[in-house]
Amino acid sequence: MASALQLRRCVSCQGLYVPGTGLCPRCGMREALEVEVPSLGTVVAVTELTSPAEGWSIPHRIALVELTEAVRLLGIVEGPLPVIGDTVGIRKDGDVYRLSSTPPG
Ligand SMILES: [Zn+2]
Repeated sequence: MASALQLRRCVSCQGLYVPGTGLCPRCGMREALEVEVPSLGTVVAVTELTSPAEGWSIPHRIALVELTEAVRLLGIVEGPLPVIGDTVGIRKDGDVYRLSSTPPG
């Protein structure tokens, strides 16, 4: 079974979002509830940087994935580049999200 991913649900507008600045991206409210969702997403965009910033892996592969309720996040792809429509596993690693074609668990 895939592990869970922590998101936040705004107490004002009920919107679901990825924790970031601490504010709801829709209405700006700070108060939110922690919510766990399956750590799986559908790839909506991918790219591969061949000349990334210093210190980044080469090639640097990133993908935009869509989770439940159309929540989207950007993550670093581990392994081969997925294609749009693929389901990938999502793992939080410090401040970044890591994506793998083989879902964890
Ligand atoms: Zn809100």
